[in-house]
Amino acid sequence: MTLTAPTTYKSLTEEAAIELAKTIQAFDHTAQLTCREIGDGNLNYVFQIEEAATGKRLIIKQALPYAKVIGESWPLTLKRATIEANVLKKHGEFVPSLVPAVHATDEALAITVMEDLSHLEIAREGLINGRQFPRLSQDIGEYLAQTLFHTSDYGLHPFEKKRLAAEFSNPELCKITEDLIFTDPFFDVDTNDYEPQLQAAAEAIWNDRKLQLEVAKLKKSFLTEAEALLHGDLHTGSIFAGPAETKVIDPEFGFYGPIGFDVGLFLANLIFQTITREGEERQEIVAHIEKTWEVFASSFTELWQTQSVESFKETEGYLEYVLGKVLADAVGFAGCELIRRTIGLAHVKDLDSIEDNDKRISFKKQALQTGRELILKREQTASIKDLVEILKEAR
Ligand code: ADP
Ligand code: MG
Ligand code: MG
Ligand code: MG
Repeated sequence: MTLTAPTTYKSLTEEAAIELAKTIQAFDHTAQLTCREIGDGNLNYVFQIEEAATGKRLIIKQALPYAKVIGESWPLTLKRATIEANVLKKHGEFVPSLVPAVHATDEALAITVMEDLSHLEIAREGLINGRQFPRLSQDIGEYLAQTLFHTSDYGLHPFEKKRLAAEFSNPELCKITEDLIFTDPFFDVDTNDYEPQLQAAAEAIWNDRKLQLEVAKLKKSFLTEAEALLHGDLHTGSIFAGPAETKVIDPEFGFYGPIGFDVGLFLANLIFQTITREGEERQEIVAHIEKTWEVFASSFTELWQTQSVESFKETEGYLEYVLGKVLADAVGFAGCELIRRTIGLAHVKDLDSIEDNDKRISFKKQALQTGRELILKREQTASIKDLVEILKEAR
């Protein structure tokens, strides 16, 4: 549903969000509603509206016309709100239980009205606190297989695939990824951010010509391989998890890119947890890493065998080639994510929240070392066990 009255952009207040919720008839006109802005306030507002009497809740997410990074504002297209809503809807066609329901959108206001998920927990926060999410890898493996297969040439008529690739063109948000993941961390630029104790490790990366060449190849894949409709920002902060449920949010970076990118970003964010944990607790995360890949590969294979377009199904060895490339790409993209979250502009709480200074620095060195190994060895990674071996060696 789209709002009927013509609107122009203005940033919502909590009061305006309540009015809006009534206008779209999400609640009765007489309902007593409260509203809280619960977003991180960097790129977007997230308003949570609740009816006191019934406990019924919903979310209105609004894009801001700028991003507050490095202290100054940086203009950023509002179109990303429409991209986000449309990715949620498109992916929701294939995995309705793994994404929030979208109730309404308004392009001019850059808002998405969606299901409230606050009975769940952001996976990153939960994992940092040692929470077990037994469904996490099963659900994300399935999410990856379904959303990526069904939006790719393997599962779609080529006309429809190209129509979608054009609809989900997202150049400004892609540019952020191109700079922050594939470029800046590998060169000495001002926006990089790291502790002084990491100076030598950072310089080693900036002087590593072999590594830079491999990262340039990965960047080329990201720039040119319009393989499937990606989430585009699938870190553990984009996932709500609970004992019996998983939901993927925040696909504003969605676009047509290489399948391995979504897979690799998720794996990298699990890898941060393998770095900070020991023993059994570490093993739980290793099991999630293995299972994510195993579920992805087996579901993707089943979809290929039962639903792929004829020409692909019949070519011997082609599925194995595609999956092999997805794994190698995912390993390389994971390596880039490990490095950029350690010395680049945007960090992860998994490492930054470690209070003991020596420990934190040593974990960060391990993240950099692991990232480098993953990028350089990605083509030799024939199975998920090979990735797990690389993680062990870097300890
Ligand atoms: P951003 O693009 O600014 O990162 P997110 O979509 O990741 O925005 O949302 C930021 C935060 O707002 C989330 O970490 C979560 O705490 C909250 N949030 C977002 N969507 C929902 C939702 N559907 N239900 C409950 N809380 C949400
Ligand atoms: Mg955020
Ligand atoms: Mg987010
Ligand atoms: Mg976001």
